[in-house]
Amino acid sequence: MGKVFLVGSGPGDPELLTVKAVRLLKTADVVLHDALVSDAILAEVRPEATLVNIGKRCRQKLLTQDEINAVLVSYASSHNVVIRLKGGDPSIFGRAGEEIEALIGAGIDYEIVPGITAACASAAAAGVSLTDRRFASSVVFTTAHRRTGPEEVAWNKLVTSDSTLVIYMPGQDYATLRTSLRAAGLPNDMPCTVVSAAGRERQQVLRTSIGSLPGVAALPAPALLIVGECASALFRQTDRLEQWLELNEDLKPVRVSD
Ligand code: SAH
Repeated sequence: MGKVFLVGSGPGDPELLTVKAVRLLKTADVVLHDALVSDAILAEVRPEATLVNIGKRCRQKLLTQDEINAVLVSYASSHNVVIRLKGGDPSIFGRAGEEIEALIGAGIDYEIVPGITAACASAAAAGVSLTDRRFASSVVFTTAHRRTGPEEVAWNKLVTSDSTLVIYMPGQDYATLRTSLRAAGLPNDMPCTVVSAAGRERQQVLRTSIGSLPGVAALPAPALLIVGECASALFRQTDRLEQWLELNEDLKPVRVSD
């Protein structure tokens, strides 16, 4: 009986893997990975390891979570080091809970190795601080789509004036999202940054506002939305910094962002 490591692979840039994740990938017997895990990260896996793409369609159909659990348990019963490699962090919208339950049920040892979740990678890509203390005292990671429980996300419970909202899996319908966020009390001019493929080659960052969301073409998946005053804080700071630098021309060489 082997051990299963639920490993977070971060947003896709291998430099954003943890040292522990890299060490484990180099010793793995089997790596079961999601579709979201980038090729650059899969290149870190020991060449002799069995690589299984669990997010791949099998006869047009994706494996159900129960089927994934069964595959995981089956590999762990016959191999020593089994890695369940997930995008971002395994514990954030990663269905790790169901897999852990299946492993415990089968008496299989497991360990979670955290990774950089998309919210943090996207904030980094956009150059903003999610809990900029001037605008936010909390940050909420949510999804626009629920799989279980009530269909609707209770936006009015999530939205407060001093929190930053990070919306995973926003879908393509930004107009409906705007309606929900407006109904929850957010003003049209609340800044909103859309980040697509953070930490990957085709990364895109789009700065807009809630009111303008319906006119924005949805960015390609994987993408998420950062909603809150902090989403544009850097903007304003950069403008002010530009002005300040103009007034203090001789100080230009010390500019940190150059
Ligand atoms: N466990 C993952 C999230 C899986 S849910 C994590 O911690 O990041 C999948 C959603 O995550 C996508 O729909 C998207 O909203 C977000 N996401 C994942 N990778 C992303 C990336 N590189 N850039 C932007 N959003 C990303």
